[in-house]
Amino acid sequence: MTGMINSLPLDEFHRILDILQTIDVGLVVLDHNYQVTLWNGFMENHSGYNLSQLAEHNIFHYFPELAEEWLRQKVEAVFTLRCASFISWELRPYLFNFPASRPFTGMSDVMYQNVTIMPLVSRHGDISHVCFIIYDVTDAATSKQALQEANQQLTTLSITDRLTGLYNRGYWEECLRNEFNRYHRTGKVSTLMMLDIDFFKKVNDTYGHLAGDEVLRRASTLLHQIVRCSDIPGRYGGEEFGVLLTDINESIALHVAERLRRSMEKEIVIFDGQQIRFTISIGLAEVTNEQPSALHWLQKADAALYHSKHTGRNRVTISKELSPA
Ligand code: GH3
Ligand code: MG
Ligand code: MG
Repeated sequence: MTGMINSLPLDEFHRILDILQTIDVGLVVLDHNYQVTLWNGFMENHSGYNLSQLAEHNIFHYFPELAEEWLRQKVEAVFTLRCASFISWELRPYLFNFPASRPFTGMSDVMYQNVTIMPLVSRHGDISHVCFIIYDVTDAATSKQALQEANQQLTTLSITDRLTGLYNRGYWEECLRNEFNRYHRTGKVSTLMMLDIDFFKKVNDTYGHLAGDEVLRRASTLLHQIVRCSDIPGRYGGEEFGVLLTDINESIALHVAERLRRSMEKEIVIFDGQQIRFTISIGLAEVTNEQPSALHWLQKADAALYHSKHTGRNRVTISKELSPA
């Protein structure tokens, strides 16, 4: 009877050990010399070491990926403050560099880990050991990363024009309003450039719609090359583009516009063995205090563009030319 009673706690103890050995979570106990005193099945399987192999040295000897200085600081804080500490995969993808459990079906080669470091209180009430609990969070981490990437792509798609890669009209108009407001806040002048490909309908009619698309792409590339990084080009409509030339007035913008006009004029697009040439007309308008809204600013540039069209095309008009200050 006594024997039975004594054997029960031992049974219980073995069962608990069994559970710790087989649980699908890493368990590591370290003493204050960073020597491993418990290393469960999860750790054995993923590291290839068993407990007796780790007996000789401290843990940093076997796992150089453990950032020793940083981890010691964390662990010492657990010893001193007697409080658990948590390491998230978002801060540090992993503590132990283990390969992912499902490298073929999963989306990662490494195992992402969340780690808790717990103080272990001895019978005397002091903290003689710490326990690392290591969770494999690869699935959650890679799903979150995939979601973030998808969201990033959606954002990009929602602001760019598919054909040209420039900003689409909706987003570009938002930039226009921002630039207009910035002028009113800071007094820093900017110039709006509107441009439209001349006789583009004829390009489509003569060479086909796909050739027209290629001309649009080429014109967009040239536009990108000629304006500065700080300028904001967008596709406003079919073959009409808008560019916010930030921090420059109409007279300086005129040089940029002329350079752009000449480079488009010189460009030869080869499509299906045919050589296609094209020109553009440009209208420029500086932002001013007289314009009550961004839309009025846009109308000024549009009027200048319209003037270029009606005075022979392949030319640049500045707004001041139409309504001298
Ligand atoms: P203008 O010199 O007065 O600007 O004459 P235009 O022929 O360029 O002007 P119009 O507005 O009459 O024609 C624009 C053409 O652009 C009509 C339309 O079919 C074409 N277009 C609009 N979007 C696209 C596109 O994405 N691809 C192609 N290939 N053509 C397009
Ligand atoms: Mg046109
Ligand atoms: Mg047009």
